Amino acid sequence: MLTGVHFLLTYKCIFECDHCFLFCGPDAEGVFTMDQVEAALTQMKEMESVNSAYFEGGEPFLYYPLMVESLRLAKAMGFKVGVVTNAYWAESERDAELWLKPLAAIGIDDLSVSDDRFHYPDGGETSAGRAVRAAKKLGIPCGSICIDAPRVVTDDKKWKGEPVVGGGVLFKGRAVDKLKGDLPRRIYSVFDECPHEDLNDPSRIHLDPFGNVHACQGIVIGNVWKTPLKDIMERYDPQNHPIIGPLLKGGPAELARRFNFDTTSGFIDHCHLCFEIRRSLLDRFPDILAPKQVYGVEG
Ligand code: SF4
Ligand code: SF4
Repeated sequence: MLTGVHFLLTYKCIFECDHCFLFCGPDAEGVFTMDQVEAALTQMKEMESVNSAYFEGGEPFLYYPLMVESLRLAKAMGFKVGVVTNAYWAESERDAELWLKPLAAIGIDDLSVSDDRFHYPDGGETSAGRAVRAAKKLGIPCGSICIDAPRVVTDDKKWKGEPVVGGGVLFKGRAVDKLKGDLPRRIYSVFDECPHEDLNDPSRIHLDPFGNVHACQGIVIGNVWKTPLKDIMERYDPQNHPIIGPLLKGGPAELARRFNFDTTSGFIDHCHLCFEIRRSLLDRFPDILAPKQVYGVEG
C-alpha cells in the first residue's frame, strides 16, 4: 500500500557523485513548478493511504523558495514532510541556521543529510556536519546518510565465503559507469530477485518533474500529468509490466533471459545486471524506462 511519495524536486545538483542513482549534476534537466507540486499533493490527498512527502533530488535546496513553499503546503495538507540534501549551503553553522530556520518554523519531520566520502572526498569538517549541528540546535529531527566506497569482502552466510562487494553502493545509475573498476563479478543467474524494492506492492514511489512515477529509479509505472496517482496505483498490474513482471518472477536474471541479454561479462550485484539490461532496452520502452538521462543517455 502506497504511503510515501518522494518528490525528485529537480534532477539538478551542484555535485556529480560517482554513486548517484539518477545521474544528477549541474547539467541535468528538470524541476517542478509550484503549480505542479500542488497538483501532485492534491492527487496524493485523494489517496487515504499516503501520509508522507519527501523532497529530494538532485539537490532541492537549489530551488530554495520552491522547496520551502512545497514543504509548507504539504505540511498544511496533513502530510509528514522530509528533505534530503547534500548541505552544500552550510558555509558555517550560523549560516546553516539561516537556511534551516524556515524549515524549523514549518515543523518538518525529518532532515536527512548526505555525509560521506562521495559527497565530501576530502573529509574533515564538512558542510554536512555543520548542517546537522545547526538542525539539532533548531530542534529539527535530523540524521546523516553515509555510504561507504565499494570494497571486496567475504560473506560466509549468503555467498559461501566467495568474494563479494560490500560498502553500501548499489550499482545502478552513475555507479555502473564510474565505480565498477575490476570489482569481482558473479554469474548472472545468482541475481534471481530484487532485494531492495517491494515491486509487488510499493509503499513508496519517486515522482519526477516530468510526471514519471518510478517504482525503482528509471522504472516507470505511470505519469501523473496524464493519469491521477490514485488510478495509477489502482490499475497497477506488476505481473504484466514488461520490466517488473520478469523481475518479480526471477529477478534481474529472469529479465536477462526474457530479453536475451548478453550476460557473459558477469555482474557485481543485482542492480548492476538490472540496470545494464534496462539501459539496453531504452528505445524499446521509452515510456517505461525513463527519463533517458537517469540512464546517463541524452534524451
Ligand atoms: S548523490 Fe545526491 S549529492 Fe550526489 S549527485 Fe546525486 S543527488 Fe547530487
Ligand atoms: S534489482 Fe533492479 S529493480 Fe531492484 S533495486 Fe536494483 S535496480 Fe531497482
